[in-house]
Amino acid sequence: MAERSYKFDTKAIHAGVNPDPTTGAVMTPIYQTTTFAQEKVGEHKGFAYARSSNPTRNVLENAIAALENTKYGACFGSGVAAIDAVLKLLSPGDEVITTDDLYGGSYRIFTTIFAKYGIKFHFIKMKDVKVLEQTINKKTKLVWVETPTNPMMNIVDLAAISKITQKNNLLLAVDNTFATPYLQTPIDLGADIVMHSATKYLGGHSDVVMGFLATNNEEVAKEIYHIQNTTGAIAGPMDSFLVLRGLKTLHLRMERHCENGAQLAYFLRNHPQIEKVHWPGFKDHPNHAIAKKQMKGFGGMLSFTLKGDSIQAAHKLMESFKVITLAESLGGVESLVCHPATMTHAALPKEEREKAGITDSLIRLSVGVEHIEDLKQDIMQALTK
Ligand SMILES: *Cc1c(COP(=O)(O)O)cnc(C)c1O
Repeated sequence: MAERSYKFDTKAIHAGVNPDPTTGAVMTPIYQTTTFAQEKVGEHKGFAYARSSNPTRNVLENAIAALENTKYGACFGSGVAAIDAVLKLLSPGDEVITTDDLYGGSYRIFTTIFAKYGIKFHFIKMKDVKVLEQTINKKTKLVWVETPTNPMMNIVDLAAISKITQKNNLLLAVDNTFATPYLQTPIDLGADIVMHSATKYLGGHSDVVMGFLATNNEEVAKEIYHIQNTTGAIAGPMDSFLVLRGLKTLHLRMERHCENGAQLAYFLRNHPQIEKVHWPGFKDHPNHAIAKKQMKGFGGMLSFTLKGDSIQAAHKLMESFKVITLAESLGGVESLVCHPATMTHAALPKEEREKAGITDSLIRLSVGVEHIEDLKQDIMQALTK
């Protein structure tokens, strides 16, 4: 595909998208159909039944794959459905190594669903590559990482980890939801599978739930398509249309998310009521050098704690915002705030949570693309309460 050589901004708009052959429609139509007429028995235009393949979904799958620099892409009904599909590549007895600072829903699917089917999970700190090497054994099949991590904004060195997974013949899957392909492309750093909650930045407008997987490994791709078709957690045509529309402004939105994120990170850090701000753009962030090396920008996600670490003070602050909305989720144009300990990470036992740094007053901010002065003003007025 010649369009693969285009710059990111051009690919975000054009990759995989061609005017509709029957009408010339510039925007990909929503093929809201379950089935496709066959000219003769078994002879059709490449589409037989919409679970197996749908033209709107196919265009989106190719479009996101182009952004992640992969040959193959597959869209699912949610991010966790995409994670579910990756784990179905495994068999009972297989082992997975992952981080101890993980999206709450990933932790939940690992420990409450797949552990039951005989898959063992090791939760480790990935910042020390030696710990990863020591945890690998004959049964290890998959390494699952997120970077930046949710909500502590730790950075995992993808190039260093992929060296180890390749040496040991393991699959490396990366949840790229926080960074998006605009800021980082894990496949180029040696990962085998990239996963997204397209619900977040790819969709970008908080109006659709969707998941995505991409790979360059033909065998893995075949198996993923088999799982997608056989277990049926597909993305619908209307949702595919919405994410296709969202993608076209991904580069513009990410620029502003990064800019506003940086401004708020410094603003919060200098505020006397704030204890600590977690944001990989700070020079004294423990993995700043790696973030700088593997990411094009530091993104729009950050988290912070309040002096005194009181759950009541954290709740009070979050309920006092006027522009920033108290809600789960992230990556939309509007700023959202959430309390990991009681919201996104409630699935984690308190002990696990605190080990990972998710203390009572930790607040996570998904910085939107509003005017920065209104965001600062909102935080200031809320903190005075
Ligand atoms: C939201 C999220 C998921 C899960 O995606 P859904 O679309 O909500 O199913 C997985 N990983 C990360 C990092 C997320 O933020």
